[in-house]
Amino acid sequence: MTDPHPLTGVRFESPVPPGTGWPGDPARPGTPVARDAAGAARLAAGAATLEELDAAVSVCRACPRLVAWRESAATVGRRASFAHEPYWGRPVPSFGDARPRILIVGLAPAANGANRTGRMFTGDRSGDWLWAALHRAGLARRASSQSAGDGQELVGARMGAAVRCAPPANRPAPAERDACAPWLAREIELLPSVRVVLALGQVAWGAVLRVVRGIGWDAPRPAPRFGHGAAARLSAPDGRAVTLLGSYHPSQQNTFTGRLTAPMLDEVLAEARRL
Ligand code: SF4
Repeated sequence: MTDPHPLTGVRFESPVPPGTGWPGDPARPGTPVARDAAGAARLAAGAATLEELDAAVSVCRACPRLVAWRESAATVGRRASFAHEPYWGRPVPSFGDARPRILIVGLAPAANGANRTGRMFTGDRSGDWLWAALHRAGLARRASSQSAGDGQELVGARMGAAVRCAPPANRPAPAERDACAPWLAREIELLPSVRVVLALGQVAWGAVLRVVRGIGWDAPRPAPRFGHGAAARLSAPDGRAVTLLGSYHPSQQNTFTGRLTAPMLDEVLAEARRL
């Protein structure tokens, strides 16, 4: 069964088969597929370019529980309002500048957001908040991001996640988080221009610290505590100083309750830009 893409009208199966024309799909039919954690680590380490890395992560099947969840959300578990849209239903690759100064790291795709649109923080309320703030900060071309192919661009920034597949209840298991870490680790190695890593939420903060330590960066010990506006100085093996900045995640739980306000997010993004 196929459904029309909301922007282009082109019909796609769900999950979207690699290399069938979805806007921004980095993979092809022959892109190698990781089928377990060791395979993900091997393919991530072997990726020579960001393009190769994005392609391989977007077809990864290393975590059986998450593969089943993302694919069921993309088929039988669709939200009623999106019942007639195709769902990406694959791991969501990073999005944005290939030579960013700022790397934004979220937790994981949302089942009916990025798992549907194939772009990080796109098509859900958290994303609406984040993209509006990124636009105000001059880091995004457009004030919203609804569909892959809409012309949205990040300027000087790139956006990824600690875990690339939508998890049940937004909670990846520790083994899933660990299986996904090599993708983020290799991405950070392939981004020598980065000066700021902005972690959205405590899980992303912890994941970034573990990942950079794993690739030989210096990070303070004991591990710096996460908080909104928290900052820690990291040092890359090439001598680069990189600041890890923390922000509360723009989840509906945080934005509805006022734990995270628009001025608070603006302030953190302004600090990221300043750094
Ligand atoms: S969470 Fe990461 S490692 Fe696990 S299947 Fe998805 S992309 Fe692969």
